[in-house]
Amino acid sequence: MNKRSTTLLVIGGGPGGYVAALRAAQLGVATTLVEGARLGGTCLNVGCIPSKALIHAAGEFDSARRHGAGSALGIRVSSASLDIAQTVRWKDGIVARLSGGVAALLRKAGVEVVEGWAKIVDGKTVEVQDANGPSRIACEHLLLAAGSRSVELPGMPFGGPVISSTEALSPSSLPRRLAVVGAGYIGLELGIAYRKLGVEVAVVEAMERVLPAWDEELTKPVSASLRRLGIEVHLGCTVQGLGACGDALRIRNARGEETELPADRVLVAVGRRPRIEGWGLETLMLEMDGRAVRIDDRCRTSMRNVWAVGDLTGEPMLAHRAMAQGAMVAELIAGKRRRWTPAAIPAVCFTEPEVVVVGQTPEDAAQADCIHAHFPFAANGRALTLDAPEGFVRVVAQREDHRIVGWQAVGHGASELAAAFSQSIEMGACLEDVAGTIHAHPTLGEAVQEAALRALGRALHV
Ligand code: FAD
Ligand code: NAD
Repeated sequence: MNKRSTTLLVIGGGPGGYVAALRAAQLGVATTLVEGARLGGTCLNVGCIPSKALIHAAGEFDSARRHGAGSALGIRVSSASLDIAQTVRWKDGIVARLSGGVAALLRKAGVEVVEGWAKIVDGKTVEVQDANGPSRIACEHLLLAAGSRSVELPGMPFGGPVISSTEALSPSSLPRRLAVVGAGYIGLELGIAYRKLGVEVAVVEAMERVLPAWDEELTKPVSASLRRLGIEVHLGCTVQGLGACGDALRIRNARGEETELPADRVLVAVGRRPRIEGWGLETLMLEMDGRAVRIDDRCRTSMRNVWAVGDLTGEPMLAHRAMAQGAMVAELIAGKRRRWTPAAIPAVCFTEPEVVVVGQTPEDAAQADCIHAHFPFAANGRALTLDAPEGFVRVVAQREDHRIVGWQAVGHGASELAAAFSQSIEMGACLEDVAGTIHAHPTLGEAVQEAALRALGRALHV
């Protein structure tokens, strides 16, 4: 068996693993990265990037169709049709370009990339099965970045008409009717996209409202949009299984009444779980947090020189968190002093309208003495020129010193405000800092300034 050694061995080439490998190599640490599927991981291949590409394509198609049905903007479209195979090819092109980019960056930095599935032998040895057979790699530091996988519903495993987000992102044809189980991130992002592609969509959610993990006030414009788009929403319902002919989803509401939703495909989006089985992780007997690998504020596991980042370490399962953790671990291994102390991690849901949460909501801050104010996009010139007056920006700040502790927004294009929100919180900005900054006109960003002005009692445009 081929044997070799390295300083840092990374298992998993997703955002957590590849960023760690890249940063470590930049800092002169001999680094090997093992990836069994494709560089870029879930995010780049079957997650963030392909979903946003599909959402964009669906939005363009929907606009064309709406203009075709009579447009207040004066645009006339005689007919709009969709070649879904071409849409998927376009999306795949973006993925291939980005995955190739990650490979090029790793190569340039001097990271050894091994294509194959890693199996842990012990905390310093990993066996890799690749095209040339098994090999053993010994390391000083082992970084676990194996990510997560979709959760299946009991009695309804993935296969046939029951699909996960991965299959939903590469359809060879579109279903006529799609049932979506779970009204969280994936269910709503992809449910809305499919609806805009012309599919009849019904969403089934166990809780009493959509996006139940998010602030209720923020999700109201999303619920209104689901109604406007003609998406059926079944709240407080549990899934009983497929109909006898496999062309319907049986659900039961809180009163025990059963309904069959006609569906030729069922997208199950009820969460993701850390990938902890099948690659020898259990041999390390690490301390766990439920199904996630427990880490401390330096991403150290309970075993010396074994580190873990990203979805494997639990919530929030977001690519930007994984990347930031990966970079930190690389710097620690290279001898820098680092600790995990972000003031806030932004969360964005790419629904229509988009939802952004950074830091504390008024509810989170209820125990502290805080002020909050919101500014509606209906009073923002740019939002009106985009024909998207729904939604608002909200700020939460400490009453005592006006230090900003949270931002939330819901609205068309609101995802792009996440940068301003995160920066102001990370830099310890006060309401006066944002209120006193000249924001370009006409932009959605002016709503950020106006929210801060309103919290200070001196809004100009509302
Ligand atoms: P992953 O990206 O899952 O990467 C893990 C890698 O490890 C994989 O490539 C896997 O093949 C490899 N691997 C696992 N085991 C082994 C082994 N034994 N040997 C070798 N290789 C192995 N997050 C956002 O922030 N924004 C979004 O818009 C967003 N959209 C999403 C949309 C969808 C449909 C999905 C499913 C997820 C989305 N996410 C989004 C979440 C995001 O994809 C994850 O948080 C992120 O990919 C986690 O990165 P990671 O490095 O921890 O793991
Ligand atoms: P999620 O946790 O966002 O939503 C799952 C939803 O399913 C919840 O509303 C839950 O109440 C519901 N649910 C659970 N069991 C159910 C059942 N049996 N019947 C009906 N409803 C049920 O999970 P997800 O949408 O699968 O996404 C997984 C993870 O991927 C997210 O938590 C997030 O970390 C990541 N993600 C992020 C983005 C983004 O950042 N824009 C996009 C997609 C995915």
